[in-house]
Amino acid sequence: MNCKLCSALFQEFLDNSLSEELIVEVQNHVRACSKCRVSLRTYTVTVTLSRKVDPPCCVSRETLDRLRKIIRENFSKSRGAVV
Ligand SMILES: [Zn+2]
Repeated sequence: MNCKLCSALFQEFLDNSLSEELIVEVQNHVRACSKCRVSLRTYTVTVTLSRKVDPPCCVSRETLDRLRKIIRENFSKSRGAVV
């Protein structure tokens, strides 16, 4: 697993559409590679935001704050499993 392949798999990784073997490969790489760890985190925020906030321009400040909180909570929960 290299950085290029790892980042190419982020989408499927987040969709849970990878095989168990590849999930382990991505997890191992992200654990060892700080660059991909940051990329995956950024990617997760982007994907989560774009899925939950549609369209973003119509969302109130209050809702955005709530979403940020949810994302932060999800991060701290998933950190043990992913990173
Ligand atoms: Zn990497």
